[in-house]
Amino acid sequence: MNAPTRIAETAPVVIVGGGFTGLSAAYELARAGNKVVVLEKEAMVGGLASGFMVGPYTLERFYHHWFTNDVHVMDLIKDIGKYDEVVFRPTRTGMYYANTIFRLSTPLDLLKFKALSFVNRVRLGLLALKARRIKDWKAIEHMTAREWLIKLAGPEVFRVVWEPLLVGKFGPYADKVGAVWFWKKLALRGGSRASDGREVLAYYKGGFSELAEALKRKLEEMGVDVRVNAGVSGLEVKDGRATAVFSNGERIEASSVLLTQALPLIADVMEPHTSPDYVASLRRIDYLANICLVLEMDRSLSETYWLNVNDPSFPFVGVIEHTNFEPPESYGGRHIVFLSKYLPESDALYRMEDEEVLDFAVPHLQRMFPDFKREWVTAHHVWRARFSQQIAEPGYSKLIPAEQSPIENVLITSMAQIYPEDRGTNYAIREGRRVAADIGKRFPAPSAAPAGL
Ligand SMILES: Cc1cc2nc3c(=O)[nH]c(=O)nc-3n(C[C@H](O)[C@H](O)[C@H](O)COP(=O)(O)OP(=O)(O)OC[C@H]3O[C@@H](n4cnc5c(N)ncnc54)[C@H](O)[C@@H]3O)c2cc1C
Repeated sequence: MNAPTRIAETAPVVIVGGGFTGLSAAYELARAGNKVVVLEKEAMVGGLASGFMVGPYTLERFYHHWFTNDVHVMDLIKDIGKYDEVVFRPTRTGMYYANTIFRLSTPLDLLKFKALSFVNRVRLGLLALKARRIKDWKAIEHMTAREWLIKLAGPEVFRVVWEPLLVGKFGPYADKVGAVWFWKKLALRGGSRASDGREVLAYYKGGFSELAEALKRKLEEMGVDVRVNAGVSGLEVKDGRATAVFSNGERIEASSVLLTQALPLIADVMEPHTSPDYVASLRRIDYLANICLVLEMDRSLSETYWLNVNDPSFPFVGVIEHTNFEPPESYGGRHIVFLSKYLPESDALYRMEDEEVLDFAVPHLQRMFPDFKREWVTAHHVWRARFSQQIAEPGYSKLIPAEQSPIENVLITSMAQIYPEDRGTNYAIREGRRVAADIGKRFPAPSAAPAGL
């Protein structure tokens, strides 16, 4: 047997992934006086919430906002002294159904929603209240969203409102989505409202990527080594402990390792060191990809921020006119629209060239907005993410891998472990900070002293 490897006393905690989970974990560990390295594969931090340049302005690749009940993100923003950068605004939501756009921002809009009979409008309104009354999600974990929604709101509400959204968002997985996923979504989004019932959402001036960059700057001030273009290709494991990670051919010594990337990517890193059964368990949860077509336009499409598309013949599930939330002035007068579609990686749309995606979308947009002309689009961008949405099927809690991996000092905190809530930056931050406290207690650095005290 090999002699036990001595880990240098100064070996840092290595965090793989510079998304919001990794950055928040780094913040908490650094605050407690630990030496930390963050290794991010891409050229910038922020992960799924990272951005790109629209002229001189930054914008998310995939539309992002917060709900008023996203307290963990607000706490972190306050901690780094940036709360003045957060804005709260009421937004207009709507639904495209039977070639018509219905406004659905307030309870009154709901009562006027002619696509449903009056009784069913009331049923739809009561659904959010009924959802909020459920406290023990385990009682509905065996059910699919379809079964649960039909039970609570009846078949017509399901057919008109929820089935098209489930099919639009989850495609071939629509009937596999668990009731718990839907219940929590409904309860959280329904709770993000002003006293007059209007939905209120929050945003960060300069976008989510600006927050990620602010966090990165803060981490660097605290002595954290944050590296981009630094994909981790593997671990060095000796006597059941990780001693180092490899990135760009460099061996980086580690006292412990936190993996925050998508589970199938974690499986790749763990495969040489753990059993086939364990690796299979990391690959067990299915994920959908997402494609977002982002349009820069010289005028607005409509007054709605968030338009749910309840029409299976329209190939995107949401039309999100971002500049009806964050004004066009923040983008030099440009109007920004996201067209979003979750889909399997094998879907033809996911594989189209960027120009083809626009060609494909234009006639559908013209059907929805008859005045719309392609000339309104001054620039377009197409973004794709392979691991965008985990499928939280019935019994999901039993599929989630434990935070503790079979390697003693390697922990896993990944988006798909968030449950019963759905993924989101708020929960990434909650989990990042929580696991950091755990690492700090279990693998204390010999010289750890709280920073700044
Ligand atoms: C279309 C869409 C819309 C969304 N809308 C919202 C919203 O409105 N509000 C909201 O709060 N959230 C939203 N989310 C969810 C949110 O973006 C995620 O929940 C959150 O960003 C996840 O953070 P994370 O750090 O856990 O994971 P990720 O952001 O996936 O970060 C993981 C990081 O690991 C890196 N990585 C992977 N492999 C390696 C490797 N081998 N070495 C080094 N680095 C590696 C990746 O590049 C990535 O940066 C949305 C997501 C999508 C896809």
